[in-house]
Order: sequence, then C-alpha cells, then structure tokens
Amino acid sequence: MARLVMKFGGTSVADVERIRNVASHVKREVDAGNEVAVVVSAMAGTTNQLVAWARETASVHDAREYDTVVATGEQVTVGLLAIELQRIGVSARSWLGWQIPIRTDNAHGAARITDVNGGALIERLSQGQVAVIAGFQGLAPDNRITTLGRGGSDTSAVAIAAAIKADRCDIYTDVDGVYTTDPRIVAKARKLDKISYEEMLEMASLGAKVLQTRSVELAMVHRVRLQVRSSFEAPDAPQLSGPDAIVPGTLVCDEEEIVEQQVVSGIAYSKDEAKVTLVKVADKPGVAARVFGPLADNSINVDMIIQNVSEDGKSTDITFTVPQAELARAEDVIRKAQPEIGCDEIRTDTNVVKVSIIGIGMRSHAGVAKTMFETLASKGINILAITTSEIKVSVLIASEYSELAVRALHTAYGLDGQ
Ligand code: ADP
Ligand code: ASP
Ligand code: MG
Repeated sequence: MARLVMKFGGTSVADVERIRNVASHVKREVDAGNEVAVVVSAMAGTTNQLVAWARETASVHDAREYDTVVATGEQVTVGLLAIELQRIGVSARSWLGWQIPIRTDNAHGAARITDVNGGALIERLSQGQVAVIAGFQGLAPDNRITTLGRGGSDTSAVAIAAAIKADRCDIYTDVDGVYTTDPRIVAKARKLDKISYEEMLEMASLGAKVLQTRSVELAMVHRVRLQVRSSFEAPDAPQLSGPDAIVPGTLVCDEEEIVEQQVVSGIAYSKDEAKVTLVKVADKPGVAARVFGPLADNSINVDMIIQNVSEDGKSTDITFTVPQAELARAEDVIRKAQPEIGCDEIRTDTNVVKVSIIGIGMRSHAGVAKTMFETLASKGINILAITTSEIKVSVLIASEYSELAVRALHTAYGLDGQ
C-alpha cells in the first residue's frame, strides 16, 4: 500500500467525460489498496475566461478580488470529481484550499505556500476516503483567498504530497512525460525516462510549462518523488503499484539516479520576454546603477543585460529584458528615471523569444555554447542577447525564428528521436 497524490490538469478535466476518465484512474489506485489525494485544475480554458472577465471589468483591479474570481474554476472540478467518484462507488469528498487549510503569503495572484495542514487529510485518507483537493488556491494570513500563479495546481500537488508524506506525486497531463523539448513544437522530441530536479527547475523556469517552476523547487526541497505521466493512457492498463512503481512517464529525481547523462538534456523557449534598449546612455561609472536600481526598487525582474562597446568613449547603448507582463511598468519606471540616466531614447520590442539549452553535463564539457552559436549562425539567426549559468545557456532572438531555432538546436545536440 502507498499514499499517493494524483494531480490532473485542465485538459484532463475539460468536460464531464474526461472527469469520468480521471475517476477511473483514481479508482484503479484505490482498488490497488492505496490511499489517494487528488488535486485538480479548472477545466481547460476556464481560468483564462475568469482572468479575462476580471480584466474586462477593470484593467487595474484589486488583486484580492481577482483571486476571488479566478479561484472559482477549481471549485467546480473538485465537486464534479467527488460526485463522479461517489457514483462509481468510491468514497470521496472535495476540499477547497481554505478548508485544509493551505496557508500562503499575501502576494495575491502569485502567492507562495507557507504551510499545509495535513492532519485532517491524513485522518480521512486512513479511513479510506479519497480527498479531492482544489489546486491553485490558498488562504492568506488575513483569511482572504489567494491563487498561486498560472499553472499553480502543480505546486498545490507537491505541497500536499510533502504535507501528507506521500510516497509519490503523479502529475497527469496531456503529454506522457517530460520531453527533450515541447513535443508540440518538435515532432522529433524524445521522452525522458528521468530528469534531475535541477534540470527540470531550469526547464520550467525557462519556459517548459509542463510543470510550474515552484512545484519543482518544492519537490527538490522536500524530496518528493515527482512523476509526469499521461491522463490519456487507458486507466485500466496494467500497472505496477507501490511507492517505487515505475510509471511509463518521466521521473524527476536526484542527478545521482540518472546513469546516462547527456551534455544537453533539453531545450526550452519562452515567448514571455520583452526587450528594452536605452539609446546613448552616458558611458561613465554609476549609470548601470541608475538604470537597474529603480527597476529593482519596483520589484521588476531583469533577466538578460548587455551594454554595448562605446564607440566614442562618451555614450553607449544598454539593452535588457523583462517579462512581457512587466514591460509597461518597466517603461514607466525608466521614463521617470530618464533625467538622471540621461539617455536619448527608450526603445521596446516584444517580438522576441528566449531559447535555452539546459544540461548538467555542461559543468564538465567545454564548447557547448559554441555549438549553439554556430548552429544559430548557420540558420542565419541573429542573437540579440545571451545569458549563461552553470547548467544553461539562453539566447534572445527574433520571435519568427523560435521554432527554427529550437528544431535546429535539438538536432545539433543529438536529441532527435524517431
Ligand atoms: P496541464 O493543464 O495538465 O497542467 P500544461 O498545459 O500546463 O498541462 O502542460 C503540459 C504542456 O506542456 C504540454 O501540452 C506541452 O505542450 C507543454 N510542454 C512544454 N515543454 C514541454 C516539455 N519539455 N515536455 C513536455 N511537455 C512540454
Ligand atoms: N487553473 C489554473 C491555471 O490555469 C491552475 C492550473 O491549471 O494549474 O493556471
Ligand atoms: Mg499546467
């Protein structure tokens, strides 16, 4: 017998028929003698609709009321899944975030989980009742409802798994595992049997939305055995059971558990970038602080930075990137600081994409970045900015080249499958 968390995303609960399919997956695990907590997302498209309604009502609105609206999608799916489980003879009840409670900070719209009380859940599980838990939502210190940021149900699932000391946390989604790159973009993408926490963390934060970044962080800290698998495989397919069951998906684990390590394990891309260029900034000490200080003071995350060589020794261009959602604010901050910065012009561009190669093997191999730059050059793709860390290299390019770049790099690093 094992204690399992099973998480189902939006496409897996998109309508009543799919909810019945989810219930069959849950029943299979219950029938095998396992204790099961299920975490569900809202039906596919629902959260987008809720966000759109909040924005339509007022483009600038109270974040607490935004959360009140967007958290409702998950209330529908937990209720429906509990009803369906009961219909097929499985004891189950729904739990909303506040009923557990899942405690968060008060950063509405992107709250972080601070504490999950697993007590009541564990008691019900031990009585043989399935807990059907609303993902994405929590409770702020002042008891207002919070949400965890888009894709946050993954994080709810991992936090629950840690709180109830689950043997496994299975993330069921619309692909059958983590691939070398988004399988919807590259037909030759290969499914990985295993990926290290660190690589998965980079993949997620660099744009692979198969897992929310925070969920991987939590899994790494709490040593949660995290697996990504398909909700569309037949629920009655033969399965191994127990804590160490090997599922046909991808296991996110310690790097020591991975025998064959590639230099580059995966490629991610993010269209969520915006580029800002300050033209003709004075080339003297203290200027960078005058640009990036006010951005930091306003909690705007700057990612890539380049300062061009000054041709005349007097002025230079500074380029940096911010998340697209923060561009308007960043522009506003820079315009206000323009008199102190003293630049001629502020240019912005949202027609850019960040493409990244990720792999633990980079630590011990030289020439990895060189292959990236040569591959892009051979396709005539211009690099606008570069950042690196120990296990990744990211480049910013014009967005029309994103698919070409991802495919070419996938081939160049020998990742293509059949
Ligand atoms: P869910 O609704 O189940 O949470 P998401 O849409 O959030 O599902 O995440 C699954 C999607 O992630 C897939 O449909 C796929 O297009 C995308 N994806 C991006 N990169 C990868 C990757 N490297 N491996 C697998 N899926 C990926
Ligand atoms: N329903 C939320 C969203 O669409 C949370 C999730 O699906 O993980 O972002
Ligand atoms: Mg998701």
